[in-house]
Amino acid sequence: MDVASARAAAETAASGAAGLGRQVSVPGRAQVVVVGGGIIGTSVAYHLAHMGMKDVLLLERDRLTSGTTWHAAGLIATFGSTSQTSTELRMYTRDLYSRLEAETGLSTGLKQCGLIELAIEPGRLEEYRRVAAFNRLCGVEVHEISPREVAELWPLAKTDDVLAAFYIPDDGRVNPVDATMSLAKGARMRGVTIVEGVPVTGFLRRRGTVTGVRTDLGDVQAEYVVNCAGMWARQLGELAGVCIPLQAAEHYYLLTEPIEGVDGSWPVLEDPASYGYYREEGGGLMLGMFEPVCAPWRVAGIPHDFSFGELPPDWDRMGEYLGTTMARVPITEQIGIRKFFCGPESFTPDLLPIVGEAPELRNFFVAAGLNSIGILTGGGIGRTVAQWIVDGTPDIDVTAINIDRLHPYQANPEYRATRTVESLGLVYATHYPNRPTKTARGARLSPIHERLAARRACFRDVSGWEGADWYAPEGVGPEVGELTWGRPHWFGYWEAEHRATRNGVIVMDMSFMAKFLVQGRDAGRELERISSNQVAAEPGRITYTQWLNERGTLEADLTVTMLDDDQFFVVASDTAHRHTETWMRRHMADAHAFVTDVTSGYAQINVQGPLSRELITAVTSADMSNEAFGFRTARYIDVGFARVLCIRITYLGELGYELHIPAEQAASAYDRLVAAGEPFGLRHAGLKALGSLRMEKAYRDYGHDIDNTDSVLEAGLGFAVALDKPGGFIGREAVLAQKARGPMTRRLVQVLLSDPEPLMFHAEIVRRDGRPAGYIRSASYGFTLGGAVGLAMIDADEPIDQKYLDSGRWEVQIGDAVYPARASLRPLYDPASKRVHM
Ligand SMILES: Cc1cc2nc3c(=O)[nH]c(=O)nc-3n(C[C@H](O)[C@H](O)[C@H](O)COP(=O)(O)OP(=O)(O)OC[C@H]3O[C@@H](n4cnc5c(N)ncnc54)[C@H](O)[C@@H]3O)c2cc1C
Repeated sequence: MDVASARAAAETAASGAAGLGRQVSVPGRAQVVVVGGGIIGTSVAYHLAHMGMKDVLLLERDRLTSGTTWHAAGLIATFGSTSQTSTELRMYTRDLYSRLEAETGLSTGLKQCGLIELAIEPGRLEEYRRVAAFNRLCGVEVHEISPREVAELWPLAKTDDVLAAFYIPDDGRVNPVDATMSLAKGARMRGVTIVEGVPVTGFLRRRGTVTGVRTDLGDVQAEYVVNCAGMWARQLGELAGVCIPLQAAEHYYLLTEPIEGVDGSWPVLEDPASYGYYREEGGGLMLGMFEPVCAPWRVAGIPHDFSFGELPPDWDRMGEYLGTTMARVPITEQIGIRKFFCGPESFTPDLLPIVGEAPELRNFFVAAGLNSIGILTGGGIGRTVAQWIVDGTPDIDVTAINIDRLHPYQANPEYRATRTVESLGLVYATHYPNRPTKTARGARLSPIHERLAARRACFRDVSGWEGADWYAPEGVGPEVGELTWGRPHWFGYWEAEHRATRNGVIVMDMSFMAKFLVQGRDAGRELERISSNQVAAEPGRITYTQWLNERGTLEADLTVTMLDDDQFFVVASDTAHRHTETWMRRHMADAHAFVTDVTSGYAQINVQGPLSRELITAVTSADMSNEAFGFRTARYIDVGFARVLCIRITYLGELGYELHIPAEQAASAYDRLVAAGEPFGLRHAGLKALGSLRMEKAYRDYGHDIDNTDSVLEAGLGFAVALDKPGGFIGREAVLAQKARGPMTRRLVQVLLSDPEPLMFHAEIVRRDGRPAGYIRSASYGFTLGGAVGLAMIDADEPIDQKYLDSGRWEVQIGDAVYPARASLRPLYDPASKRVHM
């Protein structure tokens, strides 16, 4: 079908209340209003109805599919991600599309003709072997096939340069319009009202909660609103005061004239190295493209009347890429082009969807920013959002896709215009570890940024901050260099920083950490209520704690420092910034407790290592002895002219201090430290060292190795739970219930490779006695332990204790290779924490 016919079919398929000139009206009330009738909105409505929501209203500005959905290529790929969440969303979606017809009588057009992914370069082959192993663990059928087998399955493809390919027989393609219509019918069958031709023009809100939507036909009161407005979602969100930093970009495919021999039963072929995917269309071929440098579309705002629209193709910009894409299937260079189609699709700053309840407005949910995989994840996204609304908390790990990971400045026009140039191309880039983002850099700078740059820091994007990752020695430029799955050229610099922390003293800038002052006469009581550890017992004390939801799973992992009876300092990681803040504000709303975000007000400079006490002593008049300043002490000290909140705590596993310094005094305090550090051999250490040091000690990192699906006990953090503290805490009953159920069969375990050579990054398969037991959630290189080390959530049929771990044969599968490993519940580095307390 060509684009014009696709548009005509979509317009006909949509019931077209507006188009038919029928009288439309909207009800005055609904339990949930879903805004937008693309694949995402209809999927959310369908799943809400299936989960028992009786009164769901979907409002569509024009006609169903009229935004982006109508022209999608409809690829269905369960292969390709090392995220459990993304893989599960894809698998659920494929399964849903295969069974919808039986329920609704409308076919989705799913054709499980297979998918082939080509690996042309060794780096891509390595990536795909890792992905294949992980996807198989998740239940996807993946076969590595030879170039000859590719040629048999796809005779028109050039295969002489193919190293290997990956074949997923159950993937393929779907008809996006048919899938949307089938979801819409399924929704209607369960009572959902779908009204077309009615744009939402504003929102009703009361005391921080959305209470309905505005339309030209009147207001609709609602308990929940879900913004599924695709590329309009950002500007629509603005009307509610909700920041949704997505941006539309040009997205292309080319349709050829019919080609003899092309067969509709051929698999979809993807060759990221040629920026292209290929499938049969109308007896010819569709060549879809993800060019490495792309073009944002309408940064100022998406026109309100853009329906079933297409954009004029930019032949000049795309010509070069098109040549590369066509070369993979040489016959396309000779055959006529029927259409070079360009349509807009939404992209997000980190190429992950924007899902969940807005931090700015309660009960206002968002499901948008699909980065060109809205069709192939749409079923799963709809299920997740519906379940989140119905149950109050999501049942999958949402830390990477939660809307609250993003920040308002990312919606700035300049930020969107700059970052989006890179986004689309990254879909097809080889996903090497340590790949730096190139665009929209320098958005947030630490007060000592220039000083660190002068020390040859290699910076990376840390939630928009320039975070020093590692430092180059004198005479060497701080360039990332060639991307690799092996040891990068800076491996030795990283090792030196790691060892300096274990044996001497280092300074580390962590100004990007989220910092909050919580004040008021109820502040202590409220923080106790939301913290599972006891945090308000003694002024001048820092406490490591988790925040749990009622189910007992993790919402936050952070420290609370009691400064005074009515004053607390809360520090969380950069990625958890807005989640932590929102959790506090929502749980303290009616109390005399006030949260102030002081992140920008303080630099955080950490001084860590066995010589750190001596160094701090050299720059302050305060008594830093173990007796006067024991582990977990927090006190203001003088450093030159600066007044510094000095906290004795560590995330690296050594004696150490975290210094919170007023931003305007950070540079002078830093200078003092560096000058005084010379006799101690002070080194600068970056975030790579942070990763390796904390991983040796098995310190957790929320959103990386622990997430919202883990209970505090499974995460191995029971030691930080004060079950008997007066007044209890949110989630206590769930923790007690889990304890009562007896020993756990799911636990977070530290895994160390015995062979010092291989590296682990994420998603490597952990096996016990040859059988998969889990996967590495995050990993680093343990220079002190002598090998790659990571954390894995392990599932078993029997209770997991150290005896269970010791009685099994542990291995880690990295791609196709398998390596012996050790598994431990206690940290393998300094299990008794003697070094921390010295
Ligand atoms: C060329 C191209 C090829 C693609 N190929 C694939 C593919 O092969 N596989 C894949 O998975 N994805 C693909 N995609 C991506 C996919 O099309 C999108 O991710 C998906 O369609 C997004 O769905 P959506 O529901 O979020 O947005 P949309 O389909 O745009 O739906 C949003 C709806 O909201 C409505 N709306 C907007 N404002 C309002 C308002 N104020 N009130 C009421 N309604 C409103 C709009 O009219 C629209 O119907 C492709 C995209 C492009 C451009």
